Amino acid sequence: MSPLRAAVAAASRRLADAGLLVGTAGNVSARVGDRVAITATGVRLGECGPDEVTVVTLDGTVVEGTLAPTSELSLHLGVYADGPAAAIVHTHAPFATALACVVDALPVLHYQQLTLGGEVRVAPYATFGTAELATHVRTALEGRSAALLANHGSVTLGGSLDQAVENALLLEWLCQLHHRASALGTPRVLTEEQQADVVRAAIERGYGTPQEV
Ligand SMILES: [Zn+2]
Repeated sequence: MSPLRAAVAAASRRLADAGLLVGTAGNVSARVGDRVAITATGVRLGECGPDEVTVVTLDGTVVEGTLAPTSELSLHLGVYADGPAAAIVHTHAPFATALACVVDALPVLHYQQLTLGGEVRVAPYATFGTAELATHVRTALEGRSAALLANHGSVTLGGSLDQAVENALLLEWLCQLHHRASALGTPRVLTEEQQADVVRAAIERGYGTPQEV
């Protein structure tokens, strides 16, 4: 059995434990070469095991596993076709989904959001599992590793499965931050200049990586 199936199952359980994947809602995939391991449709993600992850080729042909892939398979394969992502997480996480019912974009309130590429766009609504939704999401992801899906949820990417999971957790934290800040007043958005300063400082100091003294 491909080790990727166990890795995708473990990532799904981790996201469910964190409250981002509820019941059977959401899906996770990882790619190595021309193979994609992706959660099967109808699986309870909090208890997901390796045999509930299906391996497909980049054109969607099942090559390993007995269960049909998630209904958002075309979204995942479309994103892999667009760039170098090694993993994709799609959630109906509570704060991301709530915000995606209200705003057209998640502005940069906190500098940590810059690791996702800046302002997070909200892809216009379309029925789940459709080519139309996949197209909207791929457009919203241009130059970003996260997007919100109007009245639906979120998508994050990563150069590894861990990174895609971390990005999903960060996006949910940022949506929660936006919610709480908006309850207190009108949130200040970081200016272009402030954002550019953060990027410069992060490069100079190696932000986010352990450093020897
Ligand atoms: Zn969904």
